[in-house]
Amino acid sequence: MAEVALAEIGKRYADGTRAVESLSLQVADGEFLVLVGPSGCGKSTALRMIAGLEDISEGTLHIGDRVVNSVPSRDRDVAMVFQSYALYPHLDVFDNIGFGLRLRGMRRDDIASRVNRVAATLGLTEHLRRRPGSLSGGQRQRVAMGRAMVREPAVYLMDEPLSNLDAKLRVQMRAEIARITRRTGVTTIYVTHDQTEAMTLGDRVAVMRKGVLQQVAVPQELYDNP
Ligand code: ADP
Ligand code: ADP
Repeated sequence: MAEVALAEIGKRYADGTRAVESLSLQVADGEFLVLVGPSGCGKSTALRMIAGLEDISEGTLHIGDRVVNSVPSRDRDVAMVFQSYALYPHLDVFDNIGFGLRLRGMRRDDIASRVNRVAATLGLTEHLRRRPGSLSGGQRQRVAMGRAMVREPAVYLMDEPLSNLDAKLRVQMRAEIARITRRTGVTTIYVTHDQTEAMTLGDRVAVMRKGVLQQVAVPQELYDNP
């Protein structure tokens, strides 16, 4: 587990767009922080900078006790869950979940025991030999979660992971994400434009607008002072 600390982080894209302005934010070890705000406010950019998928233009990013500004994504001990799932269509569920571990050269039986454990947590045990194309939206989302979980990272980064699901499934998966992250106690930063999702999931909620952090509060404070 690890704390994540952003100190005056800024992002200017090559075309001059200032997507994030002087963002300072501390996420405690084991905390579930939701970054919420309207489309285009810079949430994904902020998350992608933490993930190491986007260069940081200004400021300092700590993960644990390390400054990671110039540390490549794979060495940051973070795992990202995307809204598009990004599953490999030609691999079955087992291989999709285990793929990242195989790249890292982990032994086959270690991979198998990790994948089986994660699959059990996510209710995927029956589906390990199926390919993504034959799975439901909720099952695909679970595989995407499994790919992050199997790495046992210090930090989960989730970018609108439920936005491709219908309303009913979204509520169900929301509960599942809450259950899993509480149980594992892994620090989580979760991006959404959905205020209900933010209020339901967050230990604290960080509200962004036009690249600027407006406020950070526990959900109850936001209900009381919207
Ligand atoms: P959100 O996740 O809140 O929808 P984004 O972080 O995706 O917001 O985008 C923030 C701003 O940065 C928007 O104005 C968007 O158009 C712009 N932006 C995002 N990606 C790029 C890029 N690769 N190049 C230039 N501008 C970008
Ligand atoms: P990790 O879980 O370690 O982040 P990913 O599954 O995201 O790994 O991707 C691992 C590597 O596989 C990346 O270098 C990526 O470029 C590559 N990759 C991406 N798409 C595919 C694909 N469809 N089939 C095989 N490899 C892919």
